[in-house]
Amino acid sequence: MMSRPNIVFVMSDDHAAHAISAYGSRVNRTPHIDRIAAEGVRLDKVFCTNSICTPSRASILTGTYSHVNGACSIYSELDYRVPTYAQVLQGEGYQTAIYGKWHLGVTEKANPRGFDDWRIFPGQGEYIDPLMYGPDGEGVVEGYASNIITDLSLDWLENRDAERPFCLMVHHKAPHRPWVPDEKHKDLYPVGSIPEPPTMWDDHATMSTVVQEVGMTIADHLTETDVKEPTPPELLGEENWHARASWKYQRYMRDYLQTIQSVDDNVGRVLDWLDAEGLAENTIVVYTSDQGFFLGDHGWFDKRLMFEESLGMPLVIRWPAEIPAQSRCEAIITNVDFAATFLDMCGLDPAEALPENQGLSFRALLRGEEVPGWPTSMYYRYWEHDDPEHHAPAHYGVRTTTHKYIVYYNDGLGSPGSSDRVLPTEYELYDLVNDPAELTNVVDDPSYAGARRELEAELARLQQHFGDEPYRGSDTPRVDWSV
Ligand code: CA
Repeated sequence: MMSRPNIVFVMSDDHAAHAISAYGSRVNRTPHIDRIAAEGVRLDKVFCTNSICTPSRASILTGTYSHVNGACSIYSELDYRVPTYAQVLQGEGYQTAIYGKWHLGVTEKANPRGFDDWRIFPGQGEYIDPLMYGPDGEGVVEGYASNIITDLSLDWLENRDAERPFCLMVHHKAPHRPWVPDEKHKDLYPVGSIPEPPTMWDDHATMSTVVQEVGMTIADHLTETDVKEPTPPELLGEENWHARASWKYQRYMRDYLQTIQSVDDNVGRVLDWLDAEGLAENTIVVYTSDQGFFLGDHGWFDKRLMFEESLGMPLVIRWPAEIPAQSRCEAIITNVDFAATFLDMCGLDPAEALPENQGLSFRALLRGEEVPGWPTSMYYRYWEHDDPEHHAPAHYGVRTTTHKYIVYYNDGLGSPGSSDRVLPTEYELYDLVNDPAELTNVVDDPSYAGARRELEAELARLQQHFGDEPYRGSDTPRVDWSV
């Protein structure tokens, strides 16, 4: 019998799939992440259930939705009301460690549990000479974050007990804002060389008011800190917004892609180490990101919204002992399914270890098997409302294989510091077959009335199945911002 597999889970922060060449990137090359896909499986319909850092990390670790694990917003802390898959694996004799970005709280009760060793950044962390802390205290670590995280990871692997399996989480902070590259990548992707996305000039005409007003536009909301230089005077003013967007886009993407190059280089270091140690065959290597990101798509940067670029997650997995090389998986999968899958791969029964009616193991799908009854829709909910910087609205929705339906319930209560403005509920419906770029909201088009009714019913079914509740007004159970 094959011994229990090892897991190396590499997760970056805000790395959109369309900035990975294995996913057909038009803007960069990522040879080492591509290698995982080429020697394993590329999953094409993986979605996060709440597109922002803290909630996605909590969902991945616990295999549950935000309303179950309580980490609904970036203000939340993981409080272990549900177990994490790391705790389960540690209890089963796995060696476990996590290095890099945690972002599940900075108080002692939110520290990583279920790990033999850990060293993490407070909050977002710094790109250069970051402060890090672990069980034995804190200190500044000199160097560039992506290299440091990998150094710590490889050092732990070198010093592990070779007789027992391991689960290692390599959590990069890149390519999160403010996109500070490693000096050695500063000449890559120079200004002027980066293609603009096809939807860069979307006028948002049919979208909801709250979406039209988000503070996530390339032209007006990328700051001087973001693009590393002041906007030239001749590009200021409403009449110059088009030229200004193009100017900012080049600088934003140059830095974003340069930080990704460091992540990719460091993925290569981990793959090389596994090869050198003879561990590649029975080690599950995962590369993903906590959510997607707008790369000028619809004229935006950032995430939060339910459009494909933000909702989608890259996910490539290599496990030569079980997964055929060059595989593809088109099934709808969410970040809530990861924990069950990893436990299943390690020979454990996820149903025994994790809360019921949440995530499902997709292990069999990776072997190319049909799984009768596998979901053909996914449930999404973004809980924060109108935060002072991005002004993104709270919303929930459903994505099926053919359509997307979104409800911006505009609760008016808001995140800390938000305005008290109350708007009526707004709705969007996108036909993903005929409008995959999601440029036209057809929710009021009479020819979609039947589709809308079906999507409303599916949304209600999913909310009930997963134990969430629709918004009913100000007495609805909601995020506790004080957590
Ligand atoms: Ca993130």
